[in-house]
Amino acid sequence: MTETTKLNSLKHLAKRYARAKRITQNQALNLVAEKLGFADWTKLVSANKKDWRPSSEQMEGVEAFVANAFPAADFQAGHPDVMARRSAYLDDAEHGMIGDHPYRLLVTLHDIIMMGDGWSIAVPENPGARPIVQTVTEDDGKFPVFDPEFLQEALSLARDRADRVHGEISTDWPRRSTKPDHDGVVRHPLWGDESAVWYCLHCDEKITGTQIAQNLWHCPGCGASPLDIFNTAFWCEDEGKSLSPVKADGAKDNDKPDFRVVDDRPKLELNAEKITLLIRSALLDDATNVSERLGALHAEITVDDDNDVWISLEEDLWPHDKEPVQVLIVATQLGIEVELETTWSTVPFHWPGLGEITSSTSEYTQMMLEAYARYDSSPDNDM
Ligand SMILES: [Zn+2]
Repeated sequence: MTETTKLNSLKHLAKRYARAKRITQNQALNLVAEKLGFADWTKLVSANKKDWRPSSEQMEGVEAFVANAFPAADFQAGHPDVMARRSAYLDDAEHGMIGDHPYRLLVTLHDIIMMGDGWSIAVPENPGARPIVQTVTEDDGKFPVFDPEFLQEALSLARDRADRVHGEISTDWPRRSTKPDHDGVVRHPLWGDESAVWYCLHCDEKITGTQIAQNLWHCPGCGASPLDIFNTAFWCEDEGKSLSPVKADGAKDNDKPDFRVVDDRPKLELNAEKITLLIRSALLDDATNVSERLGALHAEITVDDDNDVWISLEEDLWPHDKEPVQVLIVATQLGIEVELETTWSTVPFHWPGLGEITSSTSEYTQMMLEAYARYDSSPDNDM
């Protein structure tokens, strides 16, 4: 690779990164420069002029950095590879029917998710956690999960799948992580240290090796993940001697699902900002020349607590007898009232009438510049 191509590949990588992360190209160039130890891209370019070249390891580092940015963003951008992976993933979901109700069942990050129309059941990775049944509204007779028979069948399907996942997790872990020795000593599946007593950083409780192994390294008290479980309570002055044993009420309602109503359907919440945006857009629809367009952009739009709107239009930029028809239509659609008033303030440019004779901003700008030039008293502009 020649030296110019190296710089070009860095630019190319930065461009891809910018696309993936939806940031400007400049920001991406600076980030790439930072990865290579420079304060910003300009510094990198001047170093390059003084014979600095990225090593192949550095190039690989940047490539990896850029590649990592991709999956999530490509998902949204509809990148064909990623879309293919996504549909493969959805195909992996098991489809089925319980009675007349279709469902999909899938495993994400060790949690089991079962979904139907307007309802879902999640069985978390933590074997001690209660399943979560979610619906978009309260029970209105529409969702089968409120029927005890359906619920039981669905839960047993999801739990069977969860058991398989737990089996897979245990297989991946050292045997000592799931099977205590005769002293109750177990090995932490991530840290690898061994002990018969463990502590939860999250809820400050003492857990026996047998308890933690049975619960697949989730705290039996608060459900914290293996990341929060340690064999010394290093955060306590006495290293955990004073901490009390976790309440071993393993059988506490674990079978009873936790019902939640989470309405995540898109909902329109009209607020002052959104109303202002629509009203201004409608004003622009009503504007027929540059002057009126400036008037629409310049208009002061106030929205009160009842979402009713007050529009102050600049007299010089909006004919006082001109009814903003589109604004009134939009207001009716939104069910809000509109009041119009005319104000007199300083207009952004002199000779507002110039804007009335054209609908092209560039033409207007030219006329406006020329008009200003005529009044310019500097000797160069003597006309
Ligand atoms: Zn805990």
